[in-house]
Amino acid sequence: MSQILVAGGAGYIGSHTVKELRAQGYDVVVFDDLSSGRRDFVRDAELVVGDLMDKEAVRAAFRGRDVAAVLHFASLIQVGESYLHPRRYYTRNLVSSLNLLDALLEAGVRTMIFSSSAAVYGVPLRIPLTEDHPLDPFNPYGQTKFMVERILQDYDRAYGLKFVSLRYFNASGADPDGTLGECHDPETHLIPNILRAVTGRTEALDIFGEDFPTPDGTAVRDYIHVTDLAAAHVLALKKLGEAPRSEFINLGTNRGYSVREVIAAAERVTGRTVPVRVKPRREGDVPVLLASKDKAERVLAWTPRYSDLETIIGTAWAWQRKG
Ligand code: UDP
Repeated sequence: MSQILVAGGAGYIGSHTVKELRAQGYDVVVFDDLSSGRRDFVRDAELVVGDLMDKEAVRAAFRGRDVAAVLHFASLIQVGESYLHPRRYYTRNLVSSLNLLDALLEAGVRTMIFSSSAAVYGVPLRIPLTEDHPLDPFNPYGQTKFMVERILQDYDRAYGLKFVSLRYFNASGADPDGTLGECHDPETHLIPNILRAVTGRTEALDIFGEDFPTPDGTAVRDYIHVTDLAAAHVLALKKLGEAPRSEFINLGTNRGYSVREVIAAAERVTGRTVPVRVKPRREGDVPVLLASKDKAERVLAWTPRYSDLETIIGTAWAWQRKG
């Protein structure tokens, strides 16, 4: 039986997607160096521990397997760190993607789903962001996603690689069954940080900026539940099977919440107060990021099911209390 190779399948979004793939009967092999992923997140699939920077190890993962498609989640993801260590980000995110692409082409694979990001757009010129909005990433992390997208386009033209590049907005929440969740180290994301402040694991939540041109002064983001993201990957895979045409597709909800609104929702869900401290803006944070979800609905027949704020925070809260 053919397999789906999932690079980075032991990480946050990757592991939720592997779960969804398995639920739909796909045979999955995960390739992950466990640098940020967790072995216990790969429950129902084979795990090959290896580093995408090691070209031979990547090639070896394809040997003796009939790989039908590759999903590529593995990358460094911290925007702040990417400003400080651009060399690390460019080297790691680009070389690992190139190695994976070489190996999959050599193995005769022509189908790939890529984890891209809203960061490819840069400062929004109009909201909501549609896929044809100009791409002008301003942080090194976003640049690496943009560059891989360009590489994929060229590989489509030259080698017939068909891909869907999924541009995630704010991935959040946890598996509703409670078996998987978010655990970045260090944690930089808003919702886990709010919940850590609620439980006293940190002193307070730092609100990065209260002087944005938004109704309450805090930044507005489009939060999308990780299980909805996972479902979109499986739909994208099916779409490429039926109509092999490369696409760039936003994954967001077209609904935004400010930092203050997320805090208020977390207080409702947890029944506790969130201690806060107001800090200056983080470098590169834009006031508002909102996705148009029209293309995802049209091309993938995808609709978010878990992405209301209460469900996002409720599932993240259940996960956080277990951990
Ligand atoms: N944020 C915050 N405190 C935190 C983490 C995030 O105020 O501890 C803000 C951040 O400035 C942004 C929003 O929450 O406006 C979402 O940030 P996150 O890092 O979760 O995702 P991003 O939008 O940066 O990808």
